[in-house]
Amino acid sequence: MASGKEMKKIDLAKEMILKNSGLFRCPVCEQELSLSRSNSLYCSKGHNYDLAKQGYVNLLLKQEKSGYDKQLFAARKVISASGFFDPMRKAISKVVWEIGKDEAWSEVSILDAGCGEGSHLAWLCRDLKAKKKGFADLLGVGIDLSKEGIRVAAKEYQGLIWCVADLTKLPLQNQQFDIVLNILSPANYGEFKRVLKDHGVLFKVLPAANYLIELREILFKGTDKELYENDSVKRHFANSFQVVKEQQIHYKVVLKEENLEHLIKMTPLTWNAAQEKIAMIINSGLKSITVAFDLLVGKK
Ligand SMILES: [Zn+2]
Repeated sequence: MASGKEMKKIDLAKEMILKNSGLFRCPVCEQELSLSRSNSLYCSKGHNYDLAKQGYVNLLLKQEKSGYDKQLFAARKVISASGFFDPMRKAISKVVWEIGKDEAWSEVSILDAGCGEGSHLAWLCRDLKAKKKGFADLLGVGIDLSKEGIRVAAKEYQGLIWCVADLTKLPLQNQQFDIVLNILSPANYGEFKRVLKDHGVLFKVLPAANYLIELREILFKGTDKELYENDSVKRHFANSFQVVKEQQIHYKVVLKEENLEHLIKMTPLTWNAAQEKIAMIINSGLKSITVAFDLLVGKK
């Protein structure tokens, strides 16, 4: 039996989906999805997708193991709460605000494609609403292939729509979003274009050369992995979208001792690293770490 709190979450999710009816389409046959009385989304051809009691909808045809796991998202949640990503998020929020102001948006719909455990989207929606004369109406939708990530997101953040789904076949109708976020996640530009409105804007955040350089120096000294190379990712972006802004976001984060371990668990850099290298990082007494991102902003 579901507890009262869980029942409430699924009801909240239903309410949001009803309020935004026409948002979803079936990932199999591309027909519109409607909400049934039995807590699922269904299309006219009979494909069915369940709402989980935790308040998210699962639109994956096959459940995949994505290589991400519970431990990773738990670690990312701690790092996220420590303020690690805040300067990057503030930079995005500022640009969203400037563009929205210029275009006189009164409401704004945001898709976070590859949202992981949801903290970037939740932070951004909170920040935009809190700004002076914030957006009157704001729809936030977070999508990720990882059920573990979406579970954490749905548990943690309410008032947003959370979905397990494939980014290469977004279960969303055409031209639904003013903004698509793609933060430290793989992209599918064809799909992003399809779900963006004509005036819509894509924000992509990718690691820059010096991102976590202190860890790279220990793990990859003398190899070509010591610096992160993002030129080909940037080129691909510029070939797909009209670049309206490119911004470097560089800062240092002071690490509390316990957060170093969370950081190691969070980053794909260390997933295949030898145990002795991990121990070297933990014993290195690292006090601060370099964060370096490139923010790319593009229009259709
Ligand atoms: Zn269908």
